[in-house]
Amino acid sequence: MAELLPLRPAAVLAAWEEGLSQGSVERALTLLALALPGVARDEMADLSIGQRDALLLELRARSFGPVAPCVVRCPSCQETLEFPVQLPALRVPAPAAAEGVVTFGDLRLRVRSATSRDLLASACAADPVLALLERCVTAEHAAAGDPAAVPAEAAELVAAEMARLDPQADVRFDLSCAACGAAWTTVFDVVAYLWREIESEAQRLLAEVDALARAYCWSELAILEMSRPRRLAYLRLAGAA
Ligand SMILES: [Zn+2]
Repeated sequence: MAELLPLRPAAVLAAWEEGLSQGSVERALTLLALALPGVARDEMADLSIGQRDALLLELRARSFGPVAPCVVRCPSCQETLEFPVQLPALRVPAPAAAEGVVTFGDLRLRVRSATSRDLLASACAADPVLALLERCVTAEHAAAGDPAAVPAEAAELVAAEMARLDPQADVRFDLSCAACGAAWTTVFDVVAYLWREIESEAQRLLAEVDALARAYCWSELAILEMSRPRRLAYLRLAGAA
């Protein structure tokens, strides 16, 4: 896959504008489309969620740096914990095999990890979790019944195998509270994290464009293409910073 381009100010605003009306899965694809302009969206939709998240971690590191400040509330005493997360440390090696096998009674189920396309396609199903499992499973031979169906009793085994095949899709780390001693595990959702940053960065950029366009009548693009130090210098001269 081509090299990721860091998100420059114009791309941050484009991501924010497009992502406003999107859900998490689509937002992730929007961000990758901006970072990998030469790669078809379809191709990115077929990456596993872990492959997608690895790219998003890299994109965040290239765009805003490798250290992600995190703020979490202690579930026990509600104390606020602030700590930096080193994004490269969240990378998990991919397992050697892209597919696994789950046997359940007479069924032999070939399992693969889920992609963005699978998540989007199963989201509208009556039971999205079961629909997702069925998309990612091929029954090699069935004793009876519908060979495409995953028996409800096998669903947990299939889900566990899917998680094993794509560990990057579910990054967790342990936390403990200095105030009360509580210990718990938290999930790092790179899409949600990056989206919050895009939202706040976009608001900041919009305010800067607004102030400079009022003061100097420059175009939005001209202002966004300036380096940040230059934008800030003009904001100070215009009395807006
Ligand atoms: Zn606590």
